[in-house]
Amino acid sequence: MRMVLLGAPGSGKGTQGEKLAAHFGIPKVSTGDALRAAVAAGTDLGRKAKRAMDAGQLVDNEIVIGIVEERLAQPDAAKGFILDGFPRNTAQAQVLDAMLVRLGQPAIDKAVHLQVDDEEIIKRLLDRAHKEGRADDKEDVIRKRIRVYNDETHPLLDYYRAQNKLVAVPGVGAVDEIFQRILRVLKH
Ligand code: ADP
Repeated sequence: MRMVLLGAPGSGKGTQGEKLAAHFGIPKVSTGDALRAAVAAGTDLGRKAKRAMDAGQLVDNEIVIGIVEERLAQPDAAKGFILDGFPRNTAQAQVLDAMLVRLGQPAIDKAVHLQVDDEEIIKRLLDRAHKEGRADDKEDVIRKRIRVYNDETHPLLDYYRAQNKLVAVPGVGAVDEIFQRILRVLKH
């Protein structure tokens, strides 16, 4: 299973990605987690990424593409993976398709869209801000991230729909209920 998770910030990609990874016994690859680790480690790459992240903007394609290619080349990703937060724009999606060819891997099987409306997204992210204190969970930055999502990431729904790979799942309700919905649509 080679899967891409799509959805606005705070739509639950990380949570559902963990459950899917455990269910299928394959790694979850999160560019957000990898970038936050680079920021925490204070590497050059981390410093560069932090500027974009704190402003709610996308980190340079070269940086995230490098992170993903390195990770997908690891042996544990050979039999499948769950991508969370990548691709985030059409250029990244095209590079991903080419990357899988280069790595000798089969193409993406499914793109799962977690559907959550903007109001609920803002509520969740502000709530997470209180609990986790993430630097980019401030109201103005949240609004910017939603704008970036709508402008750059939302068009990916068409990209995967055109390839007959898109499935959509309502991302509201209990975590396990949403997870069961995803498993159900994957069976079709
Ligand atoms: P969320 O989905 O809640 O916005 P993520 O952890 O996925 O959180 O991403 C946090 C930030 O990391 C993004 O706002 C962006 O700056 C950066 N980032 C993550 N993935 C990518 C990517 N594929 N391309 C560019 N920037 C990315």
